[in-house]
Amino acid sequence: MTGAGTDWPLRRPRLRWTADGTPESLDFGDVFAARAGAVAEVCHVVLDGLGAPDVWRRPGPFVIGETGFGTGLNLLVCWDLWRRTAPPGARLHWVSVEAFPLSACEAARALARLPALADLAARLVRAWPPALPGLHARALDDRVTLTLALGDVRDALPALTGPVDAWVLDGFAPARNPAMWDAAVLAEVARLSRPGARLATYTAAGAVRRGLSDAGFRVARAPGFGGKRDCLRAVFEAGSSSVPATPHPNGPRIAVIGAGIAGCAVAAALRRRGAGDVVVVDARGHPRDSLPPALLGLLEPRLEKADSPAGRLHAAAASQAIALYDALAAAGLNPWRGPRGVLAADRGRRDDAWRRAVVDRLSWPPERLALLDAATAARTVGTAPPGATALWHPRGGALAPPALLPALLGDTAVMTAAVAAVTPRDDGGWRVCDATGAALLDADAVVLATASDTARLWPAAALPLRPTRGQVSLLRAAGPDAAPRVAVSSGAYATPAIPDGAGGWIRILGATQEPWRPGDPDPYAPRAGDDARIRANLAAVWPALADALASEPTVAALAGLRATTPDHLPLAGPLFDAATVAANQGDALRRTGRAPAPPPAVTGLFTVCGLGSHGLTMAPLVAEMVAAQITGTPWPVTADLGAALCPARFAVRALIRGRPVGA
Ligand code: SAM
Repeated sequence: MTGAGTDWPLRRPRLRWTADGTPESLDFGDVFAARAGAVAEVCHVVLDGLGAPDVWRRPGPFVIGETGFGTGLNLLVCWDLWRRTAPPGARLHWVSVEAFPLSACEAARALARLPALADLAARLVRAWPPALPGLHARALDDRVTLTLALGDVRDALPALTGPVDAWVLDGFAPARNPAMWDAAVLAEVARLSRPGARLATYTAAGAVRRGLSDAGFRVARAPGFGGKRDCLRAVFEAGSSSVPATPHPNGPRIAVIGAGIAGCAVAAALRRRGAGDVVVVDARGHPRDSLPPALLGLLEPRLEKADSPAGRLHAAAASQAIALYDALAAAGLNPWRGPRGVLAADRGRRDDAWRRAVVDRLSWPPERLALLDAATAARTVGTAPPGATALWHPRGGALAPPALLPALLGDTAVMTAAVAAVTPRDDGGWRVCDATGAALLDADAVVLATASDTARLWPAAALPLRPTRGQVSLLRAAGPDAAPRVAVSSGAYATPAIPDGAGGWIRILGATQEPWRPGDPDPYAPRAGDDARIRANLAAVWPALADALASEPTVAALAGLRATTPDHLPLAGPLFDAATVAANQGDALRRTGRAPAPPPAVTGLFTVCGLGSHGLTMAPLVAEMVAAQITGTPWPVTADLGAALCPARFAVRALIRGRPVGA
């Protein structure tokens, strides 16, 4: 099963429920938590063991790592104390690993016996990630983030980034589950630890004591809880940690240039990660005022027949975006429009055999992906699909950027100004300037969320961004029952009919996509002939749907520019200077074909761009990635997927081939 970012094996837990609603593991013959006094035991072993609340009484992020997420009880007890004792501006990141994930219903059942934690348990259950392998980053509230790595601890820990301030090791008794405690696992715990990191665990087994000590922890026994003799407390003492220093030492003002989906998602992610004073700058001003009100786009996971980093990234991104947009909807800021679901059914390259192979390989739960036969697909969409099958994404759907982008921005300040340059200041910060060279604002860090303009604003990176123009048609739809009744994606795409606010119905039919170069006609001006091309494109892949839509007139056209990259993945991460990368790593890259270290980055300058036509799907995950890098908090993706997003990857590939960067 390949899920939200990896193909790590996952297993359903085999549970036995006691009469009072406590789950026990049949896989390991052990209990998840004490039957009596479970919360008191966590308070004694974990909170006292870590020295809470004093340990987190400092501003900024506090990261707790856990092995064995189970029902989330350790998290809830810590969160409960943390929210009452953490200083203003603090953030809690809970990073945990689980190979046998409970379902949300099972977790709700297990936590129901703890009424004192009911409020937090309800929030956790609402955010509960799907049982898909890989990382799932979820905001539990405005200040608390859960990053749950679903996979075996031996696969997951090496793929995580730190630094971790405190650990809870909770992997069943070592005698029953030695894999959770072996030397390689404890070495990974040490690798991820900040010097001085605290550690608490329920066991006091000699092998664990020795393993932790070998890994660099000073270990002490403490009295156990209830009838148990001992538990362990430890401090990471190793002189040096391989955890990189926080990449942004300068302070809290961050300028995000660009108020498109990328910039708005970055602002939201920075706010959640407590990055202080964020200002978004855009020549068109606030998206609330600048976006065409009728604009709609689709969220549909892009699937791949074979496993690849790109496919894993798209799966992880779709899962993250769906969770974020559902959370906005639950908070009264619903960005979804029309009935949920996207039906993908073309007869081009993606035929029935392709669809069947994809569904078999991914084996996602049916609430995430289903293979429909033609009759079911026809009932769903309102007209016969072109093939014998169609793919159904129940959680995808049509989104309204004019609602979504302001919801992501919240009360973030937006400055209306055209940015012409960003320049480093002598004190290590950045100056954002207009075309006259006048300073618009100074910032400690800058994120360029400026699509293909990023290459112009930071030419030193020689980024291979290609501007691509896209136009969509706005149709006067016959009504909610007219096909397509749900969003369809088939090379061409169409939304369901959406109320136009004046008693009628509209839908979007898209899209053209072609390169645009400076000097070409205004990319935002609608082009005659594009509507006919869009309809002809649909007729080629799905003639019955094109026929059905022939009676719906085009009443307007909307056009925009996007940036694409040669490998069709976004650029998200620190920016760099191509000449410096070539000077520092060129020889090694040419000789060995491998980067000796991460490419040297320009301090305090980041980008999120190159999202192509996948902005609504990709932006939340890649924005979270960059917010994690800026704040020095755990990444929402595995290290390999982070590398697949690295803005310097094309420069590195060119240097490996002995070619000049940007050629
Ligand atoms: N901390 C949990 C809580 O608050 O409910 C209880 C954890 S329970 C004692 C141990 C957990 O470790 C179980 O959920 C189990 O599925 C998980 N586990 C066991 N072996 C694992 C492995 N090799 N990799 C990852 N997780 C594992």
